[in-house]
Amino acid sequence: MTITTRFAPSPTGYLHVGGARTALFSWLYARKHGGKFILRIEDTDLERSTQESVNAILEGMAWLGLDYDAGPFYQTHHFDRYKEIIQQLLVQGDAYYCYCSKDELEQLRTEQMANKEKPRYNGRCRHSEGREEGREAVVRFKNPVDGVVTIKDLVKGDIVVANKELDDLIIARADGSPTYNLTVVVDDMDMGISHVIRGDDHINNTPRQMNILKALGADLPNYAHLPMILGSDGARLSKRHGAVSVMQFRDDGYLPEALLNYLVRLGWSHGDQEIFTIDEMVEYFELDDVNVSASTFNMEKLLWLNHQYIMNSDPAHVARHLSWHIGQLGIDPADGPALVDVVKAQRERSKTLVEMAAASVYFYQDFDTYDEKAVKKNFTYGSDQVLAHLHDNLATVNDWQGEAVHQCVINLAETLGLNLGKVAQPLRVAVCGSAVSPAIDVTLALLGKEKTLARIKKAILYIKSLN
Ligand code: GLU
Repeated sequence: MTITTRFAPSPTGYLHVGGARTALFSWLYARKHGGKFILRIEDTDLERSTQESVNAILEGMAWLGLDYDAGPFYQTHHFDRYKEIIQQLLVQGDAYYCYCSKDELEQLRTEQMANKEKPRYNGRCRHSEGREEGREAVVRFKNPVDGVVTIKDLVKGDIVVANKELDDLIIARADGSPTYNLTVVVDDMDMGISHVIRGDDHINNTPRQMNILKALGADLPNYAHLPMILGSDGARLSKRHGAVSVMQFRDDGYLPEALLNYLVRLGWSHGDQEIFTIDEMVEYFELDDVNVSASTFNMEKLLWLNHQYIMNSDPAHVARHLSWHIGQLGIDPADGPALVDVVKAQRERSKTLVEMAAASVYFYQDFDTYDEKAVKKNFTYGSDQVLAHLHDNLATVNDWQGEAVHQCVINLAETLGLNLGKVAQPLRVAVCGSAVSPAIDVTLALLGKEKTLARIKKAILYIKSLN
């Protein structure tokens, strides 16, 4: 059997964390088994589906690196096929026209509720023959009345549902348009989906979909329903919990691998390993190891993982992502040091790329203001003199390397009989605008001689203006 999985989002919003995890698990399963991963856009709800959402989903998938072997397929392009299948089910006697009006259904519902029965369609039109012209009708699937459906769920184990619990589902609306359960079934069948991996919010649909597949004589796929993701307050993860859109994580400075690593651990584990390369995820991923119970989204852990990835990934890779954030700040990376060197200098202290970009602006742009606290502490009486000496000594350094620059600062401290901090800190504030930066030799090497000297001069004038 060729393993074929699919991710089938409805384009009614951005790609959220839950959707991304479903996509990742489906992707991993296909990759692990050398199978096929399909992207299918379930856009039949014409009122709620938007092109903007489609774009957001495609953008999210691309950013995460979840590549698909086929698609994106759009269900709105398959209407003829769905109609053909509806027709087939009608002809076979597995579906029928239902003429019950909204009012009649509402009345039925009220009666059932009053009798403390579960509200469900009572099959009144089950025996209608053919199509009565001139009357509005939906098409319902004739669900078997006896027996049970057993979902052999690869995550949750066997789930047995009695057919008498399932009423006759509408598969075509009065305007002829197919409903969700029908379109999913037809596509899963036509696309040869071997494993339906999706959120457990769909578990109620599964026995109905299995019955339709059986009526069509199709092979049943395997099912794996993934447990919910909860917010820290125990409620289902939603916008209320902050960033749930995948692209928001990019905007907030996360690396896609860190988010993937976080997502793979959300409901799945492999011993107590926390950090996985993509290859390891593919190698170790098993549906058997997916938790049965819901998992809780933990921002702190994601942040920790992001820092691990920032520190330990190839700096050139991190630099490519940093470049986007630097661009967001309106900075041209050509105006300063190579981003890869900035990454090496800043990665220990930056938990996100947003932090890293913000803490690196001074490498690329001059500034007019200094951090107030840093000024109070370091631009003290006489510091302009120290900076003036530094300026002259640094001006003589020809080979502008960290070591030479460092030596120059040490020598001056010794000559002036000051401890190193009394020289290095005013210098740091002069060139960075604040008292926070990588080691002074690294900072100056990255900044370059010209900018360093110009900023020292400017700081001297500033200190003079304070007195
Ligand atoms: N389109 C459905 C959704 O976005 C998923 C359907 C499925 O995976 O079967 O929730």
